Amino acid sequence: MDLTWHEFDGVVVGAGGAGLYAALELSAHPDLRVAVFSKLHPLRSHTGAAQGGMGAALGHAEEDHPEWHMFDTVKGGDYLADQDAVEILCHEAVQVVFELEHMGFPFDRAPDGRIEQRVRAGGHTRNFGERPLARSVYAADRTGQMILHTLYQQCLRRGVRFFDEFLVVDVWVQDGVCSGLLAWDVRRGGLHAVRAKAVLLATGGWGQIYRTTTNAVTLTGDGPALVWRRGVPLEDMEFYQFHPTGVYGRGILLSEASRGEGAFLVNGLGERFMERYAPRLMELAPRDVVSRSIFREIQAGRGGGPRGDCVFLDFRHLPEEVRRTKLPEVTTLIRTYLGLDPGRDLVPVRPTAHYAVGGIPTDSWGRVLQDGRRQVVQGLYAAGECACVSVHGANRLGTNSLVDILVFGRRAAQDMARLARATGLPDPPPSPLEDPAEHFLRLVGAQGPEAAARLRLELQELMERHASVFRTEASLQEALRGVWELQDRYRRIGLADRGRVYNQELVEAFETGCLLDVAEATVASALHRTESRGTHFREDYPQRDDARWLRHTLVWRLAPRQHRLEDKPVVVTHFAPKERTY
Ligand SMILES: Cc1cc2nc3c(=O)[nH]c(=O)nc-3n(C[C@H](O)[C@H](O)[C@H](O)COP(=O)(O)OP(=O)(O)OC[C@H]3O[C@@H](n4cnc5c(N)ncnc54)[C@H](O)[C@@H]3O)c2cc1C
Repeated sequence: MDLTWHEFDGVVVGAGGAGLYAALELSAHPDLRVAVFSKLHPLRSHTGAAQGGMGAALGHAEEDHPEWHMFDTVKGGDYLADQDAVEILCHEAVQVVFELEHMGFPFDRAPDGRIEQRVRAGGHTRNFGERPLARSVYAADRTGQMILHTLYQQCLRRGVRFFDEFLVVDVWVQDGVCSGLLAWDVRRGGLHAVRAKAVLLATGGWGQIYRTTTNAVTLTGDGPALVWRRGVPLEDMEFYQFHPTGVYGRGILLSEASRGEGAFLVNGLGERFMERYAPRLMELAPRDVVSRSIFREIQAGRGGGPRGDCVFLDFRHLPEEVRRTKLPEVTTLIRTYLGLDPGRDLVPVRPTAHYAVGGIPTDSWGRVLQDGRRQVVQGLYAAGECACVSVHGANRLGTNSLVDILVFGRRAAQDMARLARATGLPDPPPSPLEDPAEHFLRLVGAQGPEAAARLRLELQELMERHASVFRTEASLQEALRGVWELQDRYRRIGLADRGRVYNQELVEAFETGCLLDVAEATVASALHRTESRGTHFREDYPQRDDARWLRHTLVWRLAPRQHRLEDKPVVVTHFAPKERTY
């Protein structure tokens, strides 16, 4: 197949908040040639779906300090976060908020004209756990949308080159150096080979490994799958976060801003059951705690609805003004998908797959770690949800992803600029279409009996049954066997659409292959960790075990059906692990 060649100094894969902030930062250097490759138009990236806010210790509404934010992040992550990285996150969060303000981001404002910080989010507290604190900044419940618009406009102003609807299908990592990537032009059909001094993966999450999810259909873990195939390990993949309040039966997210504004949870008996599980923070406990509590209520026969398998969000006591001005998206979602009026009706909810806590191991400059520990892949970076720095430990706090993507997207770009100035273009691989690019080429025109859409659905059901909020050795073994069988069948898939132009079936088939890989890494890591921590709850090992498991997991794939698992120490600088009560 013909290749069109390109050369750039810095290439960003993904145009969500992480990718756009990085591109903007790179474009501040007029001598660097910068490009963004994205399988979606930038404004369709999942960052745009973020309804809640960004956490930053500005202290506008009440006293606050980055150290308090650090403590909450570390405790929220069940003490698995690397505290040196958390320190960077919480201090630079404040800077990126002001930078966004200077770019024209339409923050909600307090009467004195400063950025408003009225809404509380789960796990954010005053003075190291005393009581809930309002730390998030936002633009109504459309914060993510405004991030994309603000950053995209600034990128256009600076002349960043966008390759929209280009699917990246391989990154060239060999002998510890990344020399560029291979991309498929979805609109016209055709392969593009891109040489670059520095490549940033900012491909977002992979909630599509589960059936009930808040994540868009495009969130398929492409970045982590590509580097895994190239011999880089993945970190802490067992930690997949379920958000407590998905629209019942659909999984669409009802933002944590709902509970921040004062909506609360009741079970089928009308009880505010969080009293039993988190008497101090109640509904504003971290998500892992609230999601497990909901399932415990349902298991105990106290669920609601005709099948007794949900609980309810109660907005009825909130002033109409709050629902209209602070929760317009949430109110619309409830009307559209459930036909209910939150001013009058209880809203049925159930936990839904939401956020990939682990990912591609990086240092605090976004540099990808070849051995998962110290050794850097020269020229390869990762930031945003696809990366694991690790600031979220075993569970992410609400509002901490939007700051993570901006802080670490920006830092990665700062290091990419340094590298691009100091080095020349590395040589591309002698045969850029060899394995793993061959995987993709085989898909074009594949004629086997299996349909990718079917395999994706079976994977999602398998993961939901055997590897979601509660897990055991037996359920995870079942999941692993199932993933391997699906991978065998994946080798025999066929496409009905033989065309090249806008072949969406081809894109989805590629994505399904990525989903199978990240699901495999998830299950293998979950089997390895014989304790319960954060989002990873093993019914057969229900306690946290710091003596053995205050460690990050690393998983490599050596060959089909063969892994290597290792673990590495957690960086503890400020806060020694304590029992986690809320
Ligand atoms: C419904 C919802 C609500 C949320 N609300 C909040 C919130 O209120 N606060 C908060 O802190 N967090 C929230 N989160 C989480 C947060 O929004 C995400 O973690 C974050 O936006 C991810 O940003 P990103 O830049 O890493 O990736 P994304 O915004 O997901 O962007 C990924 C990009 O990668 C590109 N891409 C992927 N694969 C390829 C490929 N193979 N080739 C080329 N391009 C590729 C896509 O085109 C896209 O541009 C929410 C998430 C969801 C799903």
